[in-house]
Amino acid sequence: MEADYQKIGLKVGLEIHQQLNTSAKLFCNCKPTLFKEEPEVTFLRRLRPTQSELGQVDPAAYFEFQKGVKILYEANRETSCLVEMDEEPPHALNLEAVETVLTAALMMNAKPVSEVHVMRKTVIDGSNTTGFQRTCAIALNGEILVQDKTIPIQHASLEEDAARKSGDKEGRTIRYRIDRLGIPLIEVATGPVIKTPREAEEVALAIGRILRSTGKVIRGLGSIRQDINISIPNGALIEIKGLQELELVSLVVEYEVQRQLNLIRISEELSKKGAKEDLLRDEFSNVKDVFKDTKCKVVQKALEKKQEVLAVRLPGFKGFLKWELSPGLRLGTEMADRARFWGRVGGIFHTDELPAYGITVEEVENLRKSAEASDEDAVVFVADTLENSEDALRAVVERAREALGGVPQETRAPNPDGTTRYMRPRPGAARMYPETDIPPVQVTREFVEEIRAHLPELPEKKLERLQKEYKLNDKLARQVLNSEYSELFEIIIKESNVSPTTVAAFMTETLKALRRDNVAVEKISDGQLRDVFKLVGEGKIAKEAVTDVVAWLSKNEDKTIQEAVKELGMQSISQGELEKLLAKIVEDNEELINKRGEDSFGALMGIAMNNLRGKADAALVSKILKEKVKEKLK
Ligand SMILES: [Zn+2]
Repeated sequence: MEADYQKIGLKVGLEIHQQLNTSAKLFCNCKPTLFKEEPEVTFLRRLRPTQSELGQVDPAAYFEFQKGVKILYEANRETSCLVEMDEEPPHALNLEAVETVLTAALMMNAKPVSEVHVMRKTVIDGSNTTGFQRTCAIALNGEILVQDKTIPIQHASLEEDAARKSGDKEGRTIRYRIDRLGIPLIEVATGPVIKTPREAEEVALAIGRILRSTGKVIRGLGSIRQDINISIPNGALIEIKGLQELELVSLVVEYEVQRQLNLIRISEELSKKGAKEDLLRDEFSNVKDVFKDTKCKVVQKALEKKQEVLAVRLPGFKGFLKWELSPGLRLGTEMADRARFWGRVGGIFHTDELPAYGITVEEVENLRKSAEASDEDAVVFVADTLENSEDALRAVVERAREALGGVPQETRAPNPDGTTRYMRPRPGAARMYPETDIPPVQVTREFVEEIRAHLPELPEKKLERLQKEYKLNDKLARQVLNSEYSELFEIIIKESNVSPTTVAAFMTETLKALRRDNVAVEKISDGQLRDVFKLVGEGKIAKEAVTDVVAWLSKNEDKTIQEAVKELGMQSISQGELEKLLAKIVEDNEELINKRGEDSFGALMGIAMNNLRGKADAALVSKILKEKVKEKLK
């Protein structure tokens, strides 16, 4: 059933980050690309926020800092220099990036600033070697029209991307790769005026189209990341950070509304049951004895390692931990997320899901006794070191306290199925301070007017033109417009002479399907795609062969298209050879044709295409084969 979002009072705002495909990074001359080989350089740093920053730092990062976390940075020479390593001041701001942001901003009717001031925003999770992220506003107060509704654009800014995690935390060391650090990002923020999940997705798509029309964006997964701010009355403002798939926006918003509505109901029901904040205490009982003969593997292992089993009682919480908030996500899941995050444990056990995991009815009874829990209480326990277990249970009790008040404010991360998980507490508003190493950049009226005079075609105009000029149906035209390849689509049509529908279907549906099958489509260069279609246009390979050639090239990066075609045996055969081969198939199957007449055609076509897939156009094969069968039947 469709929820009534108007009645619920949903408000959504979006922040879209898109990497720009400039010739160099934002503050140095390194290439804005990622490397996958072993790093040439590594260096170790320690998280060390300065005193003045502590008042406003992310509490989660501060927690890591207290635990003495170290960071191992990885780099290579092509993608990083002394600037990324914070050994040399940043160079001047990349004007190509400024121009790209201005282009998108003007298309959204935003007002350019007269002077660009680079600012620093404190970040101490180690993703920036400097301890801050550089950002600058380029234009303010724009608007776009999405399905007849005006959506305010608060600002279009330019930021440096952060380093990326490269592997799991090993002990107290986090690994970051600094190739991504300094890649220019455009940030576009809308006002919180979006009222439904569907509308959120439409707005995200509309902004995505404008950004791509600049022709200066990096393609592929991870190149676009969206933060979604979602709030409902009596709920909380929740930030969902880093969603990479535009197609998931609607679902993520829908699930977050469900989650908040359920948390509000839980708080009401808990108060009816008499659950109270002062009854929730950080008092843990050691329940090792309860499990001394347990069949539960996790607990067994902990006991073998001489670790502890600690339990906590949550008065009045029985039944609430299994309450489903959104598909597959329960209040117990949220407590487990917190326990993992703050306590570094693998997970938690709780009485709402027991007996299970090898834990018996008798053990549950003894657990309740040991924790002095009544029938109305829930009991949560963990098996780990004393320090981790205490940290984990403290986080569980904290989450239980928050459940009494409804929805806790936090930053969440998206899961692939559209649900979300705890990421960290919401940091206070980041205070910005000026980047003194970079002088302000004037944005002259002449510069703006020059850009305004050459703005790209607006997406709605382009949609109309795609339909008219290439005779694409509405659905396919929209898919091309929303695709990362809409510019390349037109180039390929102009130089290859292949039918626009064929190219459009490949650029949208086929590439999407390949990606789903884990083919690394982003490794195929524009030049390679153009060459493949040129061969199709020249009749050297069949259009059916394109998919296989592209999949092969993605696995054989240094090889040419000619090699792909040869390796796959996909050279088109000449019409003469084709006729000969089909004649032979008709001869070989004379009996079948005599018996079934024209009904034999389907079977014959199957045999023919088994031999000819990728080497001949299916329509041509069908035409010649039909003629030959008819001839035979005369
Ligand atoms: Zn550099």
